[in-house]
Amino acid sequence: MRDTTKHQGLRNQLASVLQAKGITDKKVLEAIRKIPRHLFMDSSFEAHAYQDKAFPIAAEQTISQPYTVAFQTEVLEIQPGDKVLEIGTGSGYQTAVLLELNAEVYSIERQHELFKKTSMFLPKLGYKPKRFIFGDGYKGLPEEAPFDKIIVTAGAPYVPKALLAQIKVGGRLLIPVGDKEQVMTLFIRKSPKEFEKHELGAFRFVPMLKKKN
Ligand code: SAH
Repeated sequence: MRDTTKHQGLRNQLASVLQAKGITDKKVLEAIRKIPRHLFMDSSFEAHAYQDKAFPIAAEQTISQPYTVAFQTEVLEIQPGDKVLEIGTGSGYQTAVLLELNAEVYSIERQHELFKKTSMFLPKLGYKPKRFIFGDGYKGLPEEAPFDKIIVTAGAPYVPKALLAQIKVGGRLLIPVGDKEQVMTLFIRKSPKEFEKHELGAFRFVPMLKKKN
């Protein structure tokens, strides 16, 4: 598959749709206009790549809905150089958005097939995270902690303590919490012991898987 002016036109439309749904961060919208989302999906879904919908990728997982990706990124308030931990690499689309905002990204994926596929694919498009990790997101990444921001892109049954412990004071953890439907939950670390919690509405994610294969 290639990237063409037709795709570019569809991306511009998608960015307008996201803006109409309330996304205001110019850098996030710019990233949506730039990243060839159709290349992150199976070619049979190409015609749908710029609709504001989630679609299946490999291993029974999905590429998140563009609105969700834009919303999560906006809420994280990514600054250039932020050290960001992403749980659930999946297709790598969210990873690419974070990289477009000049974050330093560490991305964990629990399914080997997706880890392998995406860690080969993303650098070919010029998107190079600091590290791809094949592992279990419930544990975070203690050897690289603390992080400015942590983003979870699968539905978590509860908030893992390890993730709260790995954010810097002043940093943010954004995690969808719940079983069938999730409440997007933002934690801002105010001090070593205090977290401010904000609930930001209902979303639907594939479940965060418990054990590593
Ligand atoms: N941001 C991705 C979302 C993919 S769906 C995208 O837009 O493409 C969620 C991803 O989280 C899946 O790839 C799934 O395999 C992964 N995942 C699920 N449980 C996990 C865990 N415990 N640790 C790390 N990744 C996990």
